[in-house]
Amino acid sequence: MQQHSQQRMISIVFVIMFTSLVIVCCYVALNKIKQNTEQNIKNTMQTVLISVQEAHHILVAQRMIAIESLAESPELVRYSQELLAMHSAKQSTKDSQALHQLRRTISPLLNKFGDRGFFIIAPDFISIASMRDVNIGHINLIHQQEPNRLKQAFQGKTTFIPPVQSDVPIHRGFGYLIDNADTMFITTPIADQNGQIIAVLALRLDPIKHFSDITQLGRLGDSGETYAFNKKGILLTESRFAYQLIKTNLVPLGQSNISNLRIADPGGNLLSGYQPTIERKDMPLTTMAEQAIHGKSGSNLDGYRDYRGVEVMGAWIWDHQFGFGLTTEIDKSEALQSYYDTRDTFVLTIVFTFMLGAVLIAIMIRGQRLAKKQILLANRNLEHKVQERTAELEQAKRNLSYVIKELEVLAITDSLTNLANRRHFDNQLKQEWKRCLRHHKPLSLILFDVDSFKQYNDRYGHSGGDECLVQIAEMLAHSNLAKRPGDLIARYGGEEFVVLLSDADEDYTRAVAERIRDGVSQLSISHDCTKVAESNHVTVSVGFAVARIEQELTPEDLLVQADEALYLAKHSGRNRVCQYLDTSESDNVTKMHKKPTES
Ligand code: GH3
Ligand code: MG
Ligand code: MG
Repeated sequence: MQQHSQQRMISIVFVIMFTSLVIVCCYVALNKIKQNTEQNIKNTMQTVLISVQEAHHILVAQRMIAIESLAESPELVRYSQELLAMHSAKQSTKDSQALHQLRRTISPLLNKFGDRGFFIIAPDFISIASMRDVNIGHINLIHQQEPNRLKQAFQGKTTFIPPVQSDVPIHRGFGYLIDNADTMFITTPIADQNGQIIAVLALRLDPIKHFSDITQLGRLGDSGETYAFNKKGILLTESRFAYQLIKTNLVPLGQSNISNLRIADPGGNLLSGYQPTIERKDMPLTTMAEQAIHGKSGSNLDGYRDYRGVEVMGAWIWDHQFGFGLTTEIDKSEALQSYYDTRDTFVLTIVFTFMLGAVLIAIMIRGQRLAKKQILLANRNLEHKVQERTAELEQAKRNLSYVIKELEVLAITDSLTNLANRRHFDNQLKQEWKRCLRHHKPLSLILFDVDSFKQYNDRYGHSGGDECLVQIAEMLAHSNLAKRPGDLIARYGGEEFVVLLSDADEDYTRAVAERIRDGVSQLSISHDCTKVAESNHVTVSVGFAVARIEQELTPEDLLVQADEALYLAKHSGRNRVCQYLDTSESDNVTKMHKKPTES
């Protein structure tokens, strides 16, 4: 029992330890996998960022070459000079021949690159030429918003002008015009034949064409996107989540998200139905945007909410040369999908291991219980069988002892009369002889014989003789003639009987002998041919002798004395009692009291 519970404890501890080991191994492996996964994501995002930035730089460099080549063309220089002359003369350049010619000259280039327009900017920063008349004759918006960069152009350097707010509404998607949309320029000096910078040519770039085509290349997986934003945290490129933005009312239906969307943290996942409590303009910028517009490049793998409120991982840079930010973000759930899958597999493995262990223990415990039950049952059966066998054995023992007792009784009983037989008498005589000798008590012997029994047999048949002997025996057995301890009545042989009386003197013995004789006579068994005078029924002749301590006799001596007394009774006429006397004529009778012989 104790051994079973110990085995059970050991099994449970083993399973717990094994499961704990598996958990620790899984935990370590998962951490390693997570670290590797995050490092891979980080590397990938940074590679994408650098590639997008590099592509942007290459594109800008190509455009710079193109615009420089345009600015150096003699037609453009001549038209610019004509327009500058008109501007100096305070004449409007609108509707001038030079402007129309200029527009015709530049249009193919604009169309080729999908640019939105151009400016010729006079040294006093007044726009003297444009695709549209509306901004001619006004201070150029580049000077208003990026004066230093414009000055660089006047100093002879082709310059990229980071996103500035447009002075005119710009077409963005579905035919909508957007006021104050972000617009970008490349500016380059226009020099006259002497190399003197006379004006600046500015090409208005299309942010969709320019940025979005490049950033769209940096889309990782299903949720990764790369986008640019300005120093106010406003989106400069097309979001790949245009549908989600419209659905969550971040961008009005039919409008582009470019220049419309502030990269702010809504405070919760809008896609899961989170309803922000504050206006978007009041929301804090996302972790990424906040750091980027402060000029800090970096990455975040712990996760932060993007402008949709979805938890993402991201890497970002602030392009100081061109004055905008670039970021690559991917939904954390997708980025770590392989890690989550592995983690789920590990968890399943642990659960399975634990369950398997638990099932094995349960089976073992059940097996032990069954074995215990079977052992108990077998023990019970065994005990039952042992009890059965013991009972059978005891019964057999009882039967045997009964048989033995029966045999013992039979061994010492006379078969005809059921009185003690001769052997029993001989043994009893020896024992009583010793006892009386030890206790200095007298021992008496009465010997009696049926008178004329030969005649009785002859007259009534042998079976009649047997019946007569049985009647005499029953009378003796039912009388209280010899009932004291040590007393015994036995059939001595033939029609002769003997009575042993312990601690009995002559008078007592004589009285018993008389009662025997009288008892047989009282049976009144008919015997019509007996030799006994004046009798017609069965009688007995009785002789007795008493042995005393002072006489040195043997048991055999006592028997001889009793027999002599019987002989005397027979010869005295039968049906009488005679005592053996020391004065008897017989010399054969020893008067000395001897110890009994062992034989
Ligand atoms: P007495 O008066 O002198 O004793 O004469 P008795 O005839 O009795 O003596 P005897 O010795 O001449 O005869 C004894 C007879 O007893 C002889 C024998 O057949 C008979 N007898 C001995 N044992 C048995 C017995 O067991 N059954 C029967 N029916 N007779 C027996
Ligand atoms: Mg006889
Ligand atoms: Mg006789």
